[in-house]
Amino acid sequence: MPVVAIVGRPNVGKSTLFNRIIGKRVAIVEDLPGVTRDRNYFEAEHGGRRFLLVDTGGFEPDTPDRLIQQVRDQAQLAIDEAQAVLLVVDGHEGPTGVDVDIASMVRRSGKPLFLAVNKIDSFKREEEGFLSEFHRFGIDRILPVSAEHGRGTEDLLDAVMTALPPAPEPEPVPEALDEEATEEVVEDLAARPIRLAIIGRPNVGKSTLVNQLIGEERFVTSPIAGTTRDPVDAELEHKGRHFILTDTAGIRRKRSIAMRVEAYSVVRALKAAEASDVVVMLLDATEMAVEQDLKIASLAVEQGKPVIVVVNKWDLVAGDAKKAQTFRDDLVWKMPFLAFAPSIFVSALTGAHVKGVLDRAVRLFDQASSRVPTPKLNRLLEDISNHHGLPVVGGQRARVYYIAQVGIRPPTFVVQTNRPDLVPPEYRRYVANKLREVFELEVPLRLVFKRKAS
Ligand code: GDP
Ligand code: GDP
Repeated sequence: MPVVAIVGRPNVGKSTLFNRIIGKRVAIVEDLPGVTRDRNYFEAEHGGRRFLLVDTGGFEPDTPDRLIQQVRDQAQLAIDEAQAVLLVVDGHEGPTGVDVDIASMVRRSGKPLFLAVNKIDSFKREEEGFLSEFHRFGIDRILPVSAEHGRGTEDLLDAVMTALPPAPEPEPVPEALDEEATEEVVEDLAARPIRLAIIGRPNVGKSTLVNQLIGEERFVTSPIAGTTRDPVDAELEHKGRHFILTDTAGIRRKRSIAMRVEAYSVVRALKAAEASDVVVMLLDATEMAVEQDLKIASLAVEQGKPVIVVVNKWDLVAGDAKKAQTFRDDLVWKMPFLAFAPSIFVSALTGAHVKGVLDRAVRLFDQASSRVPTPKLNRLLEDISNHHGLPVVGGQRARVYYIAQVGIRPPTFVVQTNRPDLVPPEYRRYVANKLREVFELEVPLRLVFKRKAS
């Protein structure tokens, strides 16, 4: 998902703009429980394009020098991580040295730059020549906005969208096919390395876990949040299977600690999850899962990635089976979309149970790669139809005819029906859960209801 970063000095109106952009979208996009608005990244949509809007904001410089450094750091992060940079400046004050500095930094990087001249609250203001002062920035794309009044923000987004890479075509789901056509060459799963993305908030123990797994101090861990380095890949072998681990611990060394880097941690985690076969989601046993965890987990599931929930630092809570069950119950309550995913309680520090992560990774990878024979699927569908009929919708009831698995990683199933529009979400969920239960799948799956070609 492309990233659009908002940068600029304090008080120019970055968070107002951020909230303005997400404001009317929040109700539509968000359907996860427990999600608050207190955040600095957001999955937004404009003109049918999805993007991640990031506002690093939140720094509290104590001296002017530190202010400049922090704004520069923030801009550098945006340059590294984003597909488009939105520099917000104050239209009342006119250009300042920092603004000019940041603008030329972004321009030199070649990243598309948009200058949002904020606080242009009325057309009158616009006519007063506030904008012309900014033209000496040498930026083509200067857009007057009023974040507070919502003026110009849609035009701004229209412009930004032109700089994003084209949206990927949704992968077509093959038609439900006959047995012959769904049969493919059986893969040698053992020959294929399993890519593991280890994700989680700063300080949950990602680097420590990776160290334990590879059995050497390849990554240097640090007690200060956000101070570890870029993801590094490491290879290892366990019970005859190969793994490639990606540690997403660090954003960059030596960033100002005061700066909020969580937003970019999310960006990193999403990219790592996208490139992985199995996502290892690390939680800290001494802390409750927070929104950021939910967000990453839900996006991983949306990407169809198997997820292992790894509760780390179990040594600190001296946890017994009962405590583990309570933690697990709390998780399922917070993340119902992850109820099917296995969880494991480990100590990355002592090494207790960490190899279990690899065992589960193999299990999930193999499940996600498995193919269920069509006759078995159709026996299940028949069974479901006999016991759990489709509901009547507006006096009509859909009929289901046939099911086949048409893809793996994630397992993808197509059900043929006369009326896909009459198959309600609850029924879809019911069938998906039955598939998971009967064929012992602890991974996300895709289930598509398609109209039977006549
Ligand atoms: P940030 O530090 O860059 O995130 O800035 P804020 O979003 O916190 O805004 C700083 C101040 O500018 C607040 O008092 C806002 O109410 C004000 N502000 C933000 N946008 C506008 C605008 O479009 N017009 C006017 N007049 N004030 C604004
Ligand atoms: P990262 O930011 O997620 O990579 O976290 P680190 O691996 O750097 O760990 C952060 C801190 O937590 C370090 O001080 C670790 O020693 C500590 N830590 C990591 N795993 C455990 C664990 O299982 N038990 C305890 N007690 N501490 C841990």
